Amino acid sequence: MKSISKVVTTSIEETLRAGEQFAAGLNPGDIVQLRGDLGAGKTHFVKGVARFFHIPEEEVQSPTFSIIHEYQGRIPLYHVDAYRLNRPEEALEFGLEEYLYGDGICLIEWPEKIASLLPDTCRVVEIAHIDQDKRQITIHLQD
Ligand code: ADP
Ligand code: MG
Repeated sequence: MKSISKVVTTSIEETLRAGEQFAAGLNPGDIVQLRGDLGAGKTHFVKGVARFFHIPEEEVQSPTFSIIHEYQGRIPLYHVDAYRLNRPEEALEFGLEEYLYGDGICLIEWPEKIASLLPDTCRVVEIAHIDQDKRQITIHLQD
């Protein structure tokens, strides 16, 4: 996997800005895998992406129980959280394919849970918990 950029953030606001900057390079149809432990900052990074597309960040919450949230901004954002799925096929019952191949951008928390359903052209954002308020965000381009 090719690493494109690496940044260390020391506050929520910096992580939001990293998400915003990343969003500037996204196009409709893109699929983004967000990797990292619970509390790493995946959902906050998505809030930053949402801000770039003029979606209020309060609207963005981990769809832990509903699995998929759809936000309407300059383009649609599909926010998936696969954490609670027992089997990848369950994501299909939630209409995953419509979102993966839809008109918007699909951002997926816990992509490892549905790896077998994802194309190998995703972008990968990896967030590592370094310290209390410190996170390392690495952007990869899967190839
Ligand atoms: P995830 O979706 O990966 O489980 P969240 O984005 O929901 O993580 O939560 C991240 C948690 O880490 C929040 O409680 C937030 O306040 C805290 N936090 C501390 N420092 C940072 C930082 N630099 N970037 C993002 N979140 C941070
Ligand atoms: Mg989350």
